[in-house]
Amino acid sequence: MKTFEELGLTSTLLRSIDMLGFKEPTKIQNDSIPYILKGYDLIGESETGSGKTLAFGCGIIEKCTRDGGVQALVLTPTRELADQVKNALKEITFKPRLNIVAVFGGTSINNQIKNLKRANVIVATPGRLLDHIDRGTVDLSHVKLLVMDEADRMFDMGFIDDVKKIIRQCPGKRQTLFFSATITKEVKKLANQHMVDPKIVHAGNIVDPTKLKQITVRASKNKKFSLLTHILQKEEKPLAMVFCNTRHLSDYVDKNLRSNGIRAAAIHGGLTQNARLKAINRFNSHEVNVLVCTDVAARGLNIKNVSHVINYDIPQDPNDYVHRIGRTARAGESGQVINILTNFDKNYMKKIQWENKTFTMEDVEINNFKEAKITAKMEQGGRDRGARSGSRSSSGSGNNWKSNNNNNNNNNNNNNNNNNNNNNNNNNNNNNGGGSRNYQGKHKSGKSDGDRSFKPNGDKPKSPDYRTRSGGYKGKSSGNYKGKPSGGKSGSPDYRKRSGGYKGKSGGNYKKGGGGGDRSSGPKSA
Ligand code: AMP
Repeated sequence: MKTFEELGLTSTLLRSIDMLGFKEPTKIQNDSIPYILKGYDLIGESETGSGKTLAFGCGIIEKCTRDGGVQALVLTPTRELADQVKNALKEITFKPRLNIVAVFGGTSINNQIKNLKRANVIVATPGRLLDHIDRGTVDLSHVKLLVMDEADRMFDMGFIDDVKKIIRQCPGKRQTLFFSATITKEVKKLANQHMVDPKIVHAGNIVDPTKLKQITVRASKNKKFSLLTHILQKEEKPLAMVFCNTRHLSDYVDKNLRSNGIRAAAIHGGLTQNARLKAINRFNSHEVNVLVCTDVAARGLNIKNVSHVINYDIPQDPNDYVHRIGRTARAGESGQVINILTNFDKNYMKKIQWENKTFTMEDVEINNFKEAKITAKMEQGGRDRGARSGSRSSSGSGNNWKSNNNNNNNNNNNNNNNNNNNNNNNNNNNNNGGGSRNYQGKHKSGKSDGDRSFKPNGDKPKSPDYRTRSGGYKGKSSGNYKGKPSGGKSGSPDYRKRSGGYKGKSGGNYKKGGGGGDRSSGPKSA
């Protein structure tokens, strides 16, 4: 690996990089910057967090001037990414002080029109940029560097026709850079159409599979939310991303987590841009430590030190699973993935495991956790696969699940009115004995939140290499895990595995499923 100096950057850029505290280039920077500076077209296979923004940012800073109009255009699939990239570019424009303007929907177009008049670099989502092109409020005829960030997601989100229209507005003689988590067939085809003899570089995997632990906790539908609450309350200072498959469910989970004293925020496509950015900022600054999100809203976000990825819903597309788990165990940190698995999700989980045969998944049983409060309803139109209208008494391990939430009971009636709108319930945790069961309707596959399935194929983290002994967990008191953390903040919940059963003094028993013989002993966290 070269030093930044050896990559051929000018002294002002080196100074900016030094001020940012980066000691040495990442792999994508090492491999791509020399080509970018020499003016080659390039495809970088790299995901968020690999350092790609600085890689193409170096090209932008070295090639653009303050008085040449719009000379660089960066296209991103989401508003959050556009904002993130704009901020990252601003950080490295110590000199020349280029005017970097973000252009995306959900914010005032008039301010953008004003700012575009003096822009040198535009970071834009396709829809809003086309709007400016149609209004004649942007001039792309001087663009010499065109960057497409997360190219595979542009396809995934259906933006590719818009992207092609935008490319046609740029001069033919330009440098073009694509960055993409995976170089799909579509990306290659687009590259053939719009690039000249591109260099291809790879960032490598930034998730450390040896530091990633994946577990599955089974839950009945009506205990799912309580289990989630329990896990988050028992973890030691988690910085957790909780994934839901729909925006309604994200709202539901977010609001109810907050009712239970958990500092949470939600991010999904149904929120205003400001609300989304605010949620990300609050999570990044650790003002909240739980971000409840959908796949589309969360992909591409660069959030550091995520200790846990919790799949409240198992994604229907195995590729989404791979992207979700890639949020944690980054940059040398440990990370844990907790899959809350209901019967409904079983087949999705099987599919994920089938497609990712190297994944090691540990089955864990968690019993005797408290019933969580439910104060917020699932919005009309929402569906919680993991919820069940009505309730039933909890079975097994002597728990006495009692509802103490009359609201929820009252809501059962509402839920009876649903006609195949199966989970408009808000009471999936009403484990009050003897309640009626009103679960109706069909589960639809497909995602709300405008999610479209993602079709990457080569970026799967390798199997985490942790090993466990069969047996169980020892918990002192209700819901406690006992064991050693795995070295990072994400090491908990702490499982101590022993061959042959688990001990729990007063419940809170984490029982490793599967039984069977010893496999092997493992690292501290295992
Ligand atoms: P990306 O989203 O791929 O642009 O990655 C951005 C993240 O990588 C940010 O958290 C940066 O602070 C970090 N980063 C970029 N370059 C470096 C570097 N050379 N060394 C360490 N971290 C870096």
